[in-house]
Amino acid sequence: MDIIKTTSLIIGFLLLTTFIIMALYSWKENEPLALAHSIYAALILPLPFLLLSMVDKRWSHLLLTMLDSAFITSTIFLLLPIYPESKKIRMPQPRGRIDERDVMFSRAELQPGTKNFQQYYTMRPDRRHLDDIFRQNPGLLSRQASKYDPITFAVAEANFQTVAYLKHHVDGKPNKEKILIDAQQISSFIKTWLKKLGAHAVGFTRLRDYHLYTVRGRNYNYGEPVHNEHKYAIAIIVEMSKEMLDAAPNGPTVMESSQQYLTAGNLAMQIAQFIRNLGFEARAHIDGNYEVICPLVARDAGLGEIGRMGLLMTPHLGPRVRISVVTTDMPLVTDPKRDYSWMTTFCNICKKCAYNCPSKAIPTIPPRLIKGVRRWQINQEKCYTYWTRIGTDCARCISVCPFAHPDNLLHNTIRFFIKHSYLFARFALKMDNLFYGRHPRPRWPAWIPGTKNRRHEQAHAANNIKHEFTFVPKKYDIHDKS
Ligand code: SF4
Ligand code: SF4
Repeated sequence: MDIIKTTSLIIGFLLLTTFIIMALYSWKENEPLALAHSIYAALILPLPFLLLSMVDKRWSHLLLTMLDSAFITSTIFLLLPIYPESKKIRMPQPRGRIDERDVMFSRAELQPGTKNFQQYYTMRPDRRHLDDIFRQNPGLLSRQASKYDPITFAVAEANFQTVAYLKHHVDGKPNKEKILIDAQQISSFIKTWLKKLGAHAVGFTRLRDYHLYTVRGRNYNYGEPVHNEHKYAIAIIVEMSKEMLDAAPNGPTVMESSQQYLTAGNLAMQIAQFIRNLGFEARAHIDGNYEVICPLVARDAGLGEIGRMGLLMTPHLGPRVRISVVTTDMPLVTDPKRDYSWMTTFCNICKKCAYNCPSKAIPTIPPRLIKGVRRWQINQEKCYTYWTRIGTDCARCISVCPFAHPDNLLHNTIRFFIKHSYLFARFALKMDNLFYGRHPRPRWPAWIPGTKNRRHEQAHAANNIKHEFTFVPKKYDIHDKS
């Protein structure tokens, strides 16, 4: 057999094996569209190579030569580690601190007629009419919300109620007797222990000024200035289940996000208490009681980068994570900040979250200068207003993100090539849209009670998928690029 035919056979079997492996992964991941497309690709793409290598004619030889050359050249081009510096999007260090009272959760807690309400809108009169819009909506986990679901909403409420118990015990007095342990040893111990407890990733950084809020903004600490003298911060990342997020923006999403707030919060509380037992100061920063901005801490601890949707993008789970933080004066060995510009460069070409965001809160433009720092900024009013209409925390942006696929060999191989080749990154985005859909339809986990009864509702949603996920609240300007 000549070299052309042998090459064609190898290519044919390579394609067949690749798509069979992809089909198996898609089946395991419960991705019906990706499964169907992998099977079609496995049946169609290897065929010309395999069939033509069995024909013994001059024309077939010529055709095979062309096919082989085209395949080999395009594969080399796609996989070559070429990443032009000019294409890279690097996110600079943030400047200055944020007032927690400006965050939507703080604004949502303001009660009309109270002193805090009066004071806030005197300080920020431009926000009043925006906030009045979400105040007219049913609210998070409300029975009147459009995505109300008795089971998942009740679970989410239970999770948030449990976090609420914890949030009043984030601090405490350290033991009088200090136990001195080598910083390297204790850092490595904490990392390993946290991973055994279920953390996906853990990182240490020096606590920086811009990690901290200036002023507290939750109802029980409203208006208190933030003073935190700790030197170090531990960022703890936990995974949010892909299966649950695939139902976004429906009930399972808020059930899962609240669960992972609780898990991340538990881990932070446990570590903070452990450090205090060793005689050092430590404070946990958990949902509803933060002094720090967790994504910024995690970023500086080398765990990821802030992406287009304003969330931390991690290298193996994308934005499908929740974060808690422990600040302490116990000496720790810090982790270097890593270069994740390959993820933000991908964000720059992708925009899938923006195109799927029901409230059009995510910008579609490249990062721009905001208060002297080049970055993306979502429109938090649009996003939160949508949450209060549907009753869940949506997370549609997280669920459709190409980086949110499971942390396994198939997706990590794709992530590896995205990291090293700009051309492959562009190709991978097209493939993601083809295999998983531009506007993937929400899918409820089958084990959640009532799922079967929702089939009709889901079929209806599937027919209206584009309509539903291009929803824009009437009172907002769709062309607002903030
Ligand atoms: S969906 Fe695309 S643009 Fe949005 S965060 Fe993910 S990678 Fe970035
Ligand atoms: S409305 Fe949903 S998709 Fe849009 S930014 Fe908010 S959470 Fe993400």
